[in-house]
Amino acid sequence: MISTHDLGKRPGTMLERRLSLPAPADLGVDMIGVPKDAEVELDLRFEAVMEGVLVSGTARAPLAGECARCLDPISSEIEVGLQELFFYSDEDASEEDSLLDGELLDLEPTFRDAAVLALPLSPVCGDDCQGLCVECGIRLADAGPDHRHEKIDARWASLQGLVTENDNDQEK
Ligand SMILES: [Zn+2]
Ligand SMILES: [Zn+2]
Repeated sequence: MISTHDLGKRPGTMLERRLSLPAPADLGVDMIGVPKDAEVELDLRFEAVMEGVLVSGTARAPLAGECARCLDPISSEIEVGLQELFFYSDEDASEEDSLLDGELLDLEPTFRDAAVLALPLSPVCGDDCQGLCVECGIRLADAGPDHRHEKIDARWASLQGLVTENDNDQEK
């Protein structure tokens, strides 16, 4: 909860705040997310308007997860833009709108929504990640460029036979 006490209720009043808050639990998708209790840095502007308090700004949070190609642990960070109007009274607000709780406002749902949208769907440890060998599962970066499995496709194998037979015919 963030207090808007210093802001007052006079429309036009503005306040800027930098805050850092612990990340909420369960903020993530399959491969990557914001670790619980990691520090989320908020750079916020609070503006008193007629109906309530308009909050806008950015949030930066660390990410931890694993590479979708090679499954190595990765860490990075996201920065998301936030904007939410918190109403003084539910008379002005619709059901989806956010309300102030006295002088307090809860920015967590706003941050959560923005952060989930910003998460990479298939995070990679690097753009050049080669992933794992589909045959044996070894990391291709470790295996080296010469790593391959000799496997002749049955259809090509029979073609090889044809070529050999033709060669034999010509020799006759
Ligand atoms: Zn990788
Ligand atoms: Zn292999």
